[in-house]
Amino acid sequence: MLKLLKYLKPFTLMVVFILIFAFFQAMADLNLPNIMSDIINYGIQKNGIVNSVPDALRKTEYEKLSLFLTDDNKKIIDANYLLVDKDSASKEDYDKYVKTYSVLENEPIYVLNTADKDIINTLDSIMSKAIMSVSGINKMVEEKGVQGVLQSFSQQGDQSQAPSPQMQAIMGQIDPNADIFTIISQLMKAMPSDQIEKMRDTIDDQMKGVPESLLSQATAPYITEEYKALGMDMNKYQQDYILKRGGFMLLIAVGSMCCTILISFLSSQTAMAFGRDVGRALFSHVETFSLGEFDKIGTASLITRNTNDVTQVQNVLMMIFRMMITAPMMAVGGIIMAVAKARSLSWLIIVVIIVLLAVIITFATIAIPYFKKMQGFIDKINLIVREKLIGIRVIRAFNRDEYESDRFDKANTDLFKNAVRINRIMAIIMPIMMLIMNGTSLSILWFSAHKINDGTMQIGDMIAFTQYMMQIMMSFMMLTMMFIMVPRAQVSATRINEVFNIKPEIKDADNVMTLPDTKNGNVTLEFKDVVFSYPGAENPALKNISFKSKSGETTAIIGSTGSGKSTLVNLIPRFYDIQSGSIEIDGINIKNITQEDLRCEIGFVPQKATLFSGTITENLQYGKQDATIDEVSKASEIAQAMDFIKEKEEGFDTFISQGGTNISGGQKQRLSIARALVRRPDIYIFDDSFSALDFKTDAKLRAALKDQVKDAMLIIVAQRVSTVMDADRIIVLEGGEMVGMGTHKELLENCPTYKEIVLSQLSEEEIA
Ligand code: ADP
Ligand code: MG
Repeated sequence: MLKLLKYLKPFTLMVVFILIFAFFQAMADLNLPNIMSDIINYGIQKNGIVNSVPDALRKTEYEKLSLFLTDDNKKIIDANYLLVDKDSASKEDYDKYVKTYSVLENEPIYVLNTADKDIINTLDSIMSKAIMSVSGINKMVEEKGVQGVLQSFSQQGDQSQAPSPQMQAIMGQIDPNADIFTIISQLMKAMPSDQIEKMRDTIDDQMKGVPESLLSQATAPYITEEYKALGMDMNKYQQDYILKRGGFMLLIAVGSMCCTILISFLSSQTAMAFGRDVGRALFSHVETFSLGEFDKIGTASLITRNTNDVTQVQNVLMMIFRMMITAPMMAVGGIIMAVAKARSLSWLIIVVIIVLLAVIITFATIAIPYFKKMQGFIDKINLIVREKLIGIRVIRAFNRDEYESDRFDKANTDLFKNAVRINRIMAIIMPIMMLIMNGTSLSILWFSAHKINDGTMQIGDMIAFTQYMMQIMMSFMMLTMMFIMVPRAQVSATRINEVFNIKPEIKDADNVMTLPDTKNGNVTLEFKDVVFSYPGAENPALKNISFKSKSGETTAIIGSTGSGKSTLVNLIPRFYDIQSGSIEIDGINIKNITQEDLRCEIGFVPQKATLFSGTITENLQYGKQDATIDEVSKASEIAQAMDFIKEKEEGFDTFISQGGTNISGGQKQRLSIARALVRRPDIYIFDDSFSALDFKTDAKLRAALKDQVKDAMLIIVAQRVSTVMDADRIIVLEGGEMVGMGTHKELLENCPTYKEIVLSQLSEEEIA
């Protein structure tokens, strides 16, 4: 897999963008539950009051609060609150503030004068204590009456001692019907400052244990009451908060959506381009293979590897881009956020992850082997389908339809069974995952319900925690998918790499020579003691072959089936490399020229004519794309193909179906000859190309060849004596060895094998 990643290099920039967008998407998704918990915690439960710092205060209320403030703290508050009075404020200020705080018409107010976050934080802790004290006293007055409060208040400084006589004297003078805060302020004036300090410290100590969120929860009702008293529209205040946070939430959601779209877009683009490039590289690599290498992997498997396997890797790459990048970020981020929301429930995260991992690992170990097997089965099916379709005529002719269907069925059933097994595992894993998810939600509800009841947790935090939990679990599930998909792609990647790792045995030499320009026809071809055996074969297919041929000459090769005729001519375009001896063109070993140069010299007509789907013209131009219509018709004429082409309704534009199945074998052969002729090479090789032709056409074709391509060298493999009779040189092969070489006449006299062949085909009189 990693080896293939080099094909991603051109798309580095795209991948970087995918990473960036994935990061933003993860951040956005991780923030959504947080904002929602804000809306619930502050917007719904606290009328939109987010902290203990009121936007404004009545002066009277301010004075109550200041009773519980140290001088230092009072200074901070004075610096950040502005006193607005009907008489002293400028008209502009007054008009501005009276709109929100209608109470300003009757009494002076303090207005918060800063938006600095740090200052607000400082003010928050100062104010929350003061507000807690004031609202605490208010509550006590409700319960115990003023006297009761005074009682406990006087003891607060030092509980062990009874109130000092001095204190008792002051308390005696107090009007019991007066406002409690007036009394407190009087008391404080009379109290020694160290006692007041002590009292404040006690309050501080008591509040240290209370978490910040609960402090603001406790102060919210006081601030709400104060806001109402100021004449604010609390409905609108709350609505504004919710709309603002909700709008922000919507914005982030839209942002996340845009990131998702962009990621999808970029990852599809990148993965597809990756697939295209790997496919292209693979295909051109396969093109460099010699025939021996094709045999190694097999055509069907090469097709699967070039298509299905590349697609597998490409799909997984897309999945990685789409999910694999965000999933770990979401998992880690989700855990951090969840812990921040509810530290006391952290243990639940650990438990859920352990359960999830246990399930995932169990199922992955079961499923992965099946996924790995998948490619092998697909290979098999491709092999059978390919063979079946190519051989459909034979299958029909021998009535083997049923047998072949069974063969296909078996492979198909294997694939089916494997796929069903995989899906079965998936079918089980899904409900289990759902069970874990729902179980988690339930546990969160259960454990946080108690905490909410105790007042140590807020509802919004619980909901956010649940959502983070879901995000964590989804991320883990995506990672699981990856763990299942990646091994399958890994198999595909390995299969692709296997192809890449096959180094073609036939390579151009490092210091290649160029052939002299021989287009005018003065080429020599020489075999010197050539020995060749097929890879893995015990006996050489060809032994000690030596002959020499020049431009303008015809060399014929004759011999029984399997004697090595095709093998011999396949060596000339270097389809295989020989073991010893040498093959030389113009005195240069063919190993020392590029394969391209070499094959340029040769017009090869293989034993089995192969045409490609396309028009006749396209097929004929295969070896020379820029061939003119003239050249094409001339070649067709020599190849005796003109007659039947003309008979076709569309002439040269007749479409030839894949494999050339819509024309006869002889016609195919003639087109294949014409295709070689269009190239006008120096050496023509006809491997049994005339055997599919009737005698008359065979003779006409050879006559035309002699006439039209006088300057070229012809190498003709044939079974028919009549085809080779007038060749300049006839090579007789038997069992891979040359048993005779010479003209027809010479061979008749001194080569018994040749004579035997001749006698089997011609009568005595014909020979004479
Ligand atoms: P001919 O063309 O004379 O009929 P071939 O040259 O095709 O004979 O085959 C010569 C011998 O080489 C035969 O015994 C054949 O079995 C063997 N042979 C041909 N092609 C291959 C191959 N690709 N791999 C191994 N052996 C082969
Ligand atoms: Mg042959």
